[in-house]
Amino acid sequence: MYKSVIIGTGPAGLTAAIYLARANLKPLVIEGPQPGGQLTTTTEVENFPGFVDGIMGPELMDNMRKQAERFGADFRMGWVNSIEFGERPFKLNVEGLGEIVTDTVILSTGATAKYLGIPGEEENVGRGVSTCATCDGFFFRNKEIVVVGGGDSALEEANFLTRFASKVTLIHRRNELRASKIMQDRARANDKIEWALNRTPLEVVADEQGVTGIKVRNNETGNEEIIEARGIFVAIGHHPNTEFLGGKITTDPNGYIMTTPGTTETNIQGVFACGDVQDTRYRQAITAAGSGCMAAMDAEKYIESLEHGEVVL
Ligand code: NAP
Repeated sequence: MYKSVIIGTGPAGLTAAIYLARANLKPLVIEGPQPGGQLTTTTEVENFPGFVDGIMGPELMDNMRKQAERFGADFRMGWVNSIEFGERPFKLNVEGLGEIVTDTVILSTGATAKYLGIPGEEENVGRGVSTCATCDGFFFRNKEIVVVGGGDSALEEANFLTRFASKVTLIHRRNELRASKIMQDRARANDKIEWALNRTPLEVVADEQGVTGIKVRNNETGNEEIIEARGIFVAIGHHPNTEFLGGKITTDPNGYIMTTPGTTETNIQGVFACGDVQDTRYRQAITAAGSGCMAAMDAEKYIESLEHGEVVL
């Protein structure tokens, strides 16, 4: 029996783990298939305060994990199939760990990369289609690459991929980019990046060896064209990992968990949410970490009132 179980180990979950462990509440932290979360698929993090020269994403996450372990957080690999929210304490059905019983649950399961959903894409994942430049960029040394998307992720990936590629073409469905000015300026200054704006991706084209290009529609002329590339990196955002909640936790229409404004409380007392799984606005490592701290403090307060018999369910 645990006082608190944290699901997910991105900056939100790990910060919650540091706070709860330091409060001597010995949280169980369940790590999913991508320990460390999205930051383990990025390169250098330049905007996390405290690192003058930046820090590599995986190193930052590794440090946070060690910090939580130092105070007694219990890390286990597992996959949460379902949670019985109707009973107290809560019962979690976890593949790899069995049944776990806990007073509070902190949901920090983050978000997963979206795909375009166009013909040829799914069957070519691993044959040229990727959502992770840091993982797969290396395979495209001196090859032409396409990055799809107009946000910070797309521009960051495009910049990073110019280390390997002979050329990177950025395809975006509109003329205006969504990315921040600094990322735009950096990409514009990179002469290995070409721009294919106002183009809608239609189909991934491939042969027996893998991807050869992507068919797009030019939204100005209506013409279809093929942009040749051996690698297609899709960077069009993420969707929240909330399917396992079985609809018991209130979400917005896109699946993001809704919390009481100014807190991390969900619609069920004793269940808290932090990080990208509940954030449609900021989605930064530092805001995720901040909300993880809030969730830990909310959970701590709830556990205290539970122990004093003050909770009315
Ligand atoms: P995002 O800001 O939501 O941008 C997604 C991009 O993909 C948009 O340009 C969107 O086009 C495009 N898109 C979405 N669905 C598409 C589809 N089906 N077909 C074609 N294009 C599609 O996502 P993100 O870039 O992953 O960034 C998420 C958050 O993380 C942001 O808050 C960002 O600031 C942050 N981030 C920060 C950094 C950094 O500070 N270094 C790095 C990476 C990410 P439209 O513009 O037309 O909607």
